[in-house]
Amino acid sequence: MEKREQLYEGKAKKVYSTDDPELLIVSYKDDATAFNGLKKGTIQGKGAINNRMTNNFMRRLEKEGVPTHYVQELSDRETVVKKVTIVPLEVIIRNISAGSFSKRYGVEEGIVFEQPTIEFSYKNDDLGDPLINDYHAVALKLATWDEIDLIKKYAFKVNDLLKGFMKEIGIDLVDFKLEFGKTSDGTIILADEISPDTCRFWDVETHEKLDKDRFRRDLGGAEDAYQEVMRRLMGE
Ligand code: ADP
Ligand code: UDP
Repeated sequence: MEKREQLYEGKAKKVYSTDDPELLIVSYKDDATAFNGLKKGTIQGKGAINNRMTNNFMRRLEKEGVPTHYVQELSDRETVVKKVTIVPLEVIIRNISAGSFSKRYGVEEGIVFEQPTIEFSYKNDDLGDPLINDYHAVALKLATWDEIDLIKKYAFKVNDLLKGFMKEIGIDLVDFKLEFGKTSDGTIILADEISPDTCRFWDVETHEKLDKDRFRRDLGGAEDAYQEVMRRLMGE
């Protein structure tokens, strides 16, 4: 499988067409951005880590009954995925308070919730990805009720599975963002990535941050943190 035309360059990945109209190749970059692109930098080695970690998670999720876009890892940075029309909603699940949740509601980080929460952001860079509820998403025809019900079901299932995968390697899954898409026959599947760019990971013992907050908050050691999660997950 080879890359044809570059269709899109995003903040963290490039997307290419292939000879198969149903398949794309994504190529992960070391570029890091935060605050809707206002803060820019690089995290050395991030592209390869995020690619391989995402694929590891997607393969395990698929085995457990979550349909995903994953097809084949081509190299450290490149993966073949099923082409979808992205549902323009960022689906955010939280197990522990942090980030914009803590800011919005004026609470400290680290409150462990009895049940996970779900929220949606409207994926629209010009508007700064505003929070949106399910009624508004249906009103704007971003998705149907059936699609939203399925997305919620899959998102909570991903949470249960991912929480387990991370606990095994001594990491608490604080929160994360998922994207879903529709294949040409209308099937909803999990797309995009699952990585320290899109999840908050805290060490179970020390509560050390092992994710993109090291970059967002200028804590230093982002490279080492990504490498550490990778090492615990894949033994390298
Ligand atoms: P952004 O667009 O936020 O800068 P990226 O740099 O990660 O993000 O770009 C990857 C783009 O590809 C995103 O817009 C994402 O929604 C999209 N995408 C992810 N998986 C698929 C897929 N399977 N089919 C089509 N588009 C996808
Ligand atoms: N997230 C993401 N992309 C976004 C916004 C959030 O991957 O555009 C992830 C983020 O890494 C965190 C979770 O979603 O794991 C919740 O993020 P939050 O709403 O707290 O926003 P932030 O603090 O990142 O602004």
